[in-house]
Amino acid sequence: MRRVTLRGFRVGFCRHPQRMAIRDGRWRPVEFPALAFLLVHPEEGPIVFDTGYDPAFFTATEPFPERLYRWTTPPTLGPREALADQLAAAGVAPGDVRHLILSHFHADHMAGTHRFSNAAIHCARAGYDAMCAGSRLGSVRKGMLRALAPLDFLTRARWFEDAPRVPLPADLAPFVEGADLLGDGSFLALPLPGHCPGHWGLALREDAGLHMLVADAAWSSDAIRRDMPPPRLTMALLGDPAATRATLHDLHRLRVRNPDIRLTPSHCPECASEWA
Ligand SMILES: [Zn+2]
Repeated sequence: MRRVTLRGFRVGFCRHPQRMAIRDGRWRPVEFPALAFLLVHPEEGPIVFDTGYDPAFFTATEPFPERLYRWTTPPTLGPREALADQLAAAGVAPGDVRHLILSHFHADHMAGTHRFSNAAIHCARAGYDAMCAGSRLGSVRKGMLRALAPLDFLTRARWFEDAPRVPLPADLAPFVEGADLLGDGSFLALPLPGHCPGHWGLALREDAGLHMLVADAAWSSDAIRRDMPPPRLTMALLGDPAATRATLHDLHRLRVRNPDIRLTPSHCPECASEWA
């Protein structure tokens, strides 16, 4: 695998009872940070994996029924905390980002898509179709906000499903196959089914070793270590409980077989503190 560099950013957070995310958690509300990542490729330059929250989220959730989303998972985003603003402050112009990779279509992962107007958008066709299917209320109930997809989304989309399939490094077993997004082995997207339709992770190699961004296949590193899923109700509300359970178990097996690999869930407080 071609080596790349990675840096995480905390892009807002929401508050929710911990118990909704892990079966033996407490009922008190805790913060779930929304992480986004800057990946730097030797030739393609800055690449973004997920965007976290964005002011566009608050605009999109002004009307009904979209406002229900804001009520059920109230998010907080500070001034100049949007990913594009944090990248600009770090010396990366959003217009220079040529690739945006979206793990899935939940609003807290793709709200800032509109800020990266020159980027090809790598994502799952199944996720896009799920966002567009049915009523607006149905989309909101699934955690998706159609208004967050820029008008030129389809002309910029590069579907994971169409990327060439390649074998993953043996160190990533039980995961065996990935989609080679740039054709040079630098970014291998892999399906992590269950959380919602079209939910994928991303494997890459840093100087320090293999790293898998697992998005919402787990909500914390602790859940992977202990193979502890969310309550069945949460899994059923969002996606497919059996597939969610199986994916978490595969991540746990990977962790046990290869303790050196870095696994990063998008809302893990422990991971967020590493980039604070
Ligand atoms: Zn999600």
